[in-house]
Amino acid sequence: MAPTVRTEATVRTGSGSPARATRWSDSLILVVTRRCDLRCAYCPTVKDGEPDLSPSDALRAVDLFVSRHGGGDCKLFGGEPLLVPEAVEAVIRHAPPSVNVYLSTNGSHLSRHWIDILHAFPGVTLTVSLDGAAADHDGLRRGARTYDTAIRWLPELLRLPRFVVTQTIAPSTAARAAENFRHLRSLGLRKFNLLPGYFLPWTEAQLAALRASFDAIAEDFESAWAGGERLYLRNLFVRAPTPFYNTGFVVDSDGRIYPNNLVLAGAFDSLRAHTSIGTLDAPPSPDRLAEATAAAPAVLEAAVGARVMECTRRADAELTRLCNRLYPAYFDMRARA
Ligand code: SF4
Repeated sequence: MAPTVRTEATVRTGSGSPARATRWSDSLILVVTRRCDLRCAYCPTVKDGEPDLSPSDALRAVDLFVSRHGGGDCKLFGGEPLLVPEAVEAVIRHAPPSVNVYLSTNGSHLSRHWIDILHAFPGVTLTVSLDGAAADHDGLRRGARTYDTAIRWLPELLRLPRFVVTQTIAPSTAARAAENFRHLRSLGLRKFNLLPGYFLPWTEAQLAALRASFDAIAEDFESAWAGGERLYLRNLFVRAPTPFYNTGFVVDSDGRIYPNNLVLAGAFDSLRAHTSIGTLDAPPSPDRLAEATAAAPAVLEAAVGARVMECTRRADAELTRLCNRLYPAYFDMRARA
């Protein structure tokens, strides 16, 4: 999966939020591969022309990260990371206990082998991209019929303690986002990450539909929590300074190091030389990483153009509005638990 699941790429910075105080440099992001067999309508990732991350480089990156930070979150992203199973498995099996491993996948390559590994390593957080009912899920994948594949392993996945679904909401599906959310709940799913399509042009009508859908989803959460149901929304607990993209210690599939994974997007390809701050052989100092992280929002803004940036801000503001609405009900539910 591209950084959609990445998601968790949102700005929830309102005071009083329960978001844990993530120190962004405490996240290692491994771009395992750019390759993917899908072509989601909202995906900006350049898929071809880059090497895959080798298992040895993946582990070198983990070692470097641990030597710098002692531990933290290690996120395995793509492209589709399960296309490079050796690197993913090496990290899952060999990361020290101080490292929390997150694996994001489109679900197409899950298999008995992966299910067994995930059950053997229950500390791994698995995020699968499911955008709703088959018509929209497959439609956003330009007709690739992946819905049935993605839900094939659901009974087993639902037994994992850390299984989250990312529902991406594209402009074209904003009006049906609540309907799609309810469909996913009807499958037994209880842990969600909502992701509006960032860096896409949204019309006024689509943004209004997004707001209405988030209102309906908020009502569903409030009602579920009032009834004692343990429904989880990851967006309430995630902070990032840049919508959609993840900030941290980013190791690209060729071993170059960046302060965020903006580099995945074709639109930012011209920025690569400018934003690369080292390699696994010559890693940046912590100060250099912090400096580049702080500079990233301005670099992004200069690169994407005013209209798309404005659409991104407004779509993200709707997500922030949803979270801010839900915090009181969330605290009430926690107080009663
Ligand atoms: S699954 Fe879709 S969003 Fe993820 S990398 Fe492939 S095309 Fe992009």
